[in-house]
Amino acid sequence: MARNYFCQDENLIDKMEEECGVFGVYATSDDKVDVANLTYLGLHALQHRGQESAGICVNDKGEFTNRRGMDLVTNVFDEEALEELTGQMAVGHVRYSTTGSSLLSNAQPLVTNSIKGELALAHNGNLVNGLEMRKNLEQRGSIFHSTLDTEVIAHLVARSFKDDIIEALTHSLQKVKGAFSLIAMTEDSLVAARDPHGFRPLAIGKLEDSYIIASETCAFDIIGAEHIRDIEPGEIVVINEEGIKSKYYGERTPYNFCVFEFIYFARPDSVIGGQNVQLAREEIGRQLARETDIEADLVVPVPSSGIPSALGFAEESGVPYKKGILRNRYVGRTFIQPTQEIRNLKVKIKLNPIKDIIEGKRIFLIDDSIVRGTTSKQIIRMMKEAGAKEVHMGIASPPVAYPCYYGLDTSRRQELIAAENSVEEICDHIGADSLTYISQEGLLASIEANGYGFCTACFSGDYPIGEGEGKFSLEC
Ligand code: SF4
Repeated sequence: MARNYFCQDENLIDKMEEECGVFGVYATSDDKVDVANLTYLGLHALQHRGQESAGICVNDKGEFTNRRGMDLVTNVFDEEALEELTGQMAVGHVRYSTTGSSLLSNAQPLVTNSIKGELALAHNGNLVNGLEMRKNLEQRGSIFHSTLDTEVIAHLVARSFKDDIIEALTHSLQKVKGAFSLIAMTEDSLVAARDPHGFRPLAIGKLEDSYIIASETCAFDIIGAEHIRDIEPGEIVVINEEGIKSKYYGERTPYNFCVFEFIYFARPDSVIGGQNVQLAREEIGRQLARETDIEADLVVPVPSSGIPSALGFAEESGVPYKKGILRNRYVGRTFIQPTQEIRNLKVKIKLNPIKDIIEGKRIFLIDDSIVRGTTSKQIIRMMKEAGAKEVHMGIASPPVAYPCYYGLDTSRRQELIAAENSVEEICDHIGADSLTYISQEGLLASIEANGYGFCTACFSGDYPIGEGEGKFSLEC
């Protein structure tokens, strides 16, 4: 069966896709906050992390109500639906799915009920031993209702020899390997945990006396919450009537935060490790300019992902910045089939070069990354058809040559244009007059996130955990 693609507001199809965003709120008894509305707003701010399903589970004195749907947050929840979601705690999730798994059964939060009590889970990331653990659990009688590796965690909790549900969750997290930024809700506690490598972001905020957990700080801004700090790799935080407690549940490993969060995924207004994402992207652009020796008349971004680095590039190089490509803001979710002609049309629906700006000019065109090269080729062709004299391409990441196993949907290795092709060959393929990627060293030097180290496996093939394609087939 052909895979269906959605043309989303911010993403072209030739991009890596984030797979999840998570949000949680614990209201103290003195705070009369509407946890469902806060979660709705938080998920709205995290919509860029997943657009295929959205869900909110509330906990009213131990009674769980879970509502999920296959759509954008604003379409899954209306006023009436939110009014029915009352309680003192909530956990929410937005998800982007990979092939064949766009099903309601895979939408989160995932709610299970075992002898240890009810548990709602919202997870961002992928487990690298998820498939192996699932087989093991199935051999011992566990029945799965989804293809989520989040469900592996739920079964491990149910089977744990620890009676207390939070101890059972902690024990289960010690068994799984991979990327997880997780929010769990038990009958009396909100729990947040980050894997020992810290692949995906997760932060704590406060709104009056209530605690908020979110994938990104932009979700705090929308509800007026204050960002307290990031949750550390290998840390588990438990919030309940007794207050907030934190501990490290496993070995401390070097930070391997996904550098692509800074390049493309995270929202520009988010702060990670004390570093604002927009400013980091502008600095990446400045560094790209230092590494480039091309004469051009104009710096033009591929909207909108290339804008921050193009601004930095123009500032450093002194070449004027112009918005030479118009992005149609009103494309929305155009449902289309992935034939090649339609892919080409999709780029045209979305982007249009402004002839009067680019005609006769030598353009330095900037984008954040090249995955398959299909979009870059289309854009460069459109620029040349519109009269650009030369189109030189600058990329704010090193070549993406290896797939991601930690929660992002990259193409398979054979679909990544940089897997088998040199920079010169890619340049020829996309029809550019030159092609410059930022170096990995230059990229890392541009990001000043306090204490953070970075995963760069999709550039280097140097995977912090797990190896070999095929072992990792479960999803967040
Ligand atoms: S492999 Fe690439 S996309 Fe995946 S976590 Fe590492 S840096 Fe991020």
